[in-house]
This record gives sequence, C-alpha cells and structure tokens, in this order.
Amino acid sequence: MENERFYRLGLVGHPLGHSLSPAIHSRALAAAGLSGEYRLYPIPPLPSSSQVLQVLLDRLRRGELHGLNVTIPLKQVVLPLLDWLEPAARRIGATNLLYCRDGRLVGDNADAAGFRLDLLRFTTAISLGCGHALVLGAGGAARAVTAVLLDEGWQVTVAARRAEQARIMAESLLPNEIEIVPLAGDCITALHRVNLVVNTTPAGMAPDLEGSPWPEGVALPAGSAVYDLVYNPADTRLLQTARAAGLPTRGGLGMLVEQAALSFERWTGCPAPRPVMRQAAGLA
Ligand code: NAP
Repeated sequence: MENERFYRLGLVGHPLGHSLSPAIHSRALAAAGLSGEYRLYPIPPLPSSSQVLQVLLDRLRRGELHGLNVTIPLKQVVLPLLDWLEPAARRIGATNLLYCRDGRLVGDNADAAGFRLDLLRFTTAISLGCGHALVLGAGGAARAVTAVLLDEGWQVTVAARRAEQARIMAESLLPNEIEIVPLAGDCITALHRVNLVVNTTPAGMAPDLEGSPWPEGVALPAGSAVYDLVYNPADTRLLQTARAAGLPTRGGLGMLVEQAALSFERWTGCPAPRPVMRQAAGLA
C-alpha cells in the first residue's frame, strides 16, 4: 500500500540558524517518494523555555509530529522527559533522535552510530589503526564520540574546560578507563603519542569562524589526524591549522549525513537515499 502519511519532522535546539538538516531531509523525503517537511524549532536555553519543549514532545506523543532530532544544548536536558531510552542513548546519557512508539516517547542516539561509520571511513582512508585519541569537550556529542572510541579499542583522554563535567561523563561511561585533563596548552602537550584529535566542542562553529578549541600557540600532536564534529563551516579554523601542519583532517559533514540517514530510516521505515543526502549536505 502506498505510504500517504505527511511526515512532520524537525530539529529542536539553539541556535539552529545554520542547520543543514532541513535541506538534507527534504531532499531525502522527495527522493524516497514520501511527502513531508522538516522544520526548525529553535528553543533558547532552558529553563525559561521548558514549556515550549514540553509542547513539542506532547505533539510527538499525539502523533502530530512523527520525529524530532535534538541538538545543542538539549541532548541531555531532554532525557527525563522521555518514557524510554534505547540502549545507545541510555549508555551514552544523551539523545539526538526522538520518536513515539506505542504511545511512548523514545530517545535514541544516532550521533554515535553516525560517528562510528564516518570515523571508520576516515581511518581506513588514511590507514590509521587504533591508538590514543584526545577528545576535546565533554558535552552530549563528546559522550557519543567517547563511547564509540572506547568500543573501537582506542585509549581515550578527554580535555575539557570543566573538569567536573568530564568526570561525570567518564564515570557514567567507563570509570577508570578515561583520562581527564584540563583543556589547556601545558596539559595537552604533556600527553604522549596522541594519534587522533576529535573536537566535540562548538568552538569554530558559525558565526564564531575564528574560534578554535585548540589552545593558541600550541602545536597539534605530530603524526596525529584531526576530526572536527563542527560541520558549519565545513572547513573550520582547527582543520585549517591541522592541514597547515601536514595532518590529515575530517570535518563533521559525513557524520551529520549518517546520523540523518539513521534518523530518516527510524522515522519512515524506508531506506535512506544516502547519495542524495550527501549531495544536499555539500559532500561529493
Ligand atoms: P554541548 O552538549 O553543549 O557540549 C559542548 C561542549 O563543548 C561542552 O563540554 C562545553 O563546555 C564545551 N565548549 C563549548 N564551547 C567551548 C569552547 N569555546 N572551548 C572549549 N570548550 C567549549 O554540545 P553538543 O551537542 O555536544 O555539540 C557540540 C558540537 O558538536 C556542536 O558544534 C554540534 O553542532 C557538533 N555536533 C556535530 C555533529 C555531527 O553530526 N557532525 C553531531 C553532534 C554534534 P561548557 O559546558 O563548559 O560550555
């Protein structure tokens, strides 16, 4: 039977002005022969706007919305408002994919699966085996990234400006397995043999084009590869600095498309048209 549903999908978070998700999902819906829309629901920082978030979740529960992505700064904030967390979201302690199943609000984490797929593509392309990864930041995306790196056999150090946030993250993921250091030049340079740096902070994201999470005047680890989750702009200052030092780099667009594809499949039950979605994101 033909799928006649009009899919009402969207993204919740703040700021959303530079989101590529509406373009990616609109193209995907059209390519799959489905009708629908993907809207932006900008929700300024909580708690003042918790009511707005609750209204959207109620619409999801009633079936007026069919799927939501969650982004900065709500990936952890939204957890207590849900009825069920899929295993990845529960383990990571953050969700970016919401839907309603049998009347229950469900949260999953497609960032982790998206990062895993794109990281493997990157490390395969540059013949990089597992080693020591340095994760910058300790927010929602850092949790997904750190969980994947640990699962893939990497030794992980997390550099964060708030040690307490990093400690809580490490304790909930894999206590005693994650080293934590302040995000400061002297602490980072003291680390041995880092061969992958992953930026999970928003530093460098539009409109902060001159921003970088990497401390000023400090060289990136020699022989490392650099993965920046920021995808807008596609080429961040961190990536430019890394390339100037002769290091292989990867921006966040590939991960963005993978998590979008996984979200699309969960919401519609149809295979995601990945080539079209990659094209909509500006990837070849
Ligand atoms: P989040 O939960 O708010 O976490 C951000 C983390 O970065 C926090 O630890 C924060 O520390 C730290 N931070 C913020 N600004 C910083 C700065 N200037 N220097 C050092 N640390 C800083 O956000 P998120 O959801 O994890 O998202 C983070 C970034 O990843 C965003 O740019 C997002 O677009 C990107 N992302 C990309 C993808 C993708 O598919 N490519 C997927 C997920 C996320 P404080 O708590 O001290 O502020």
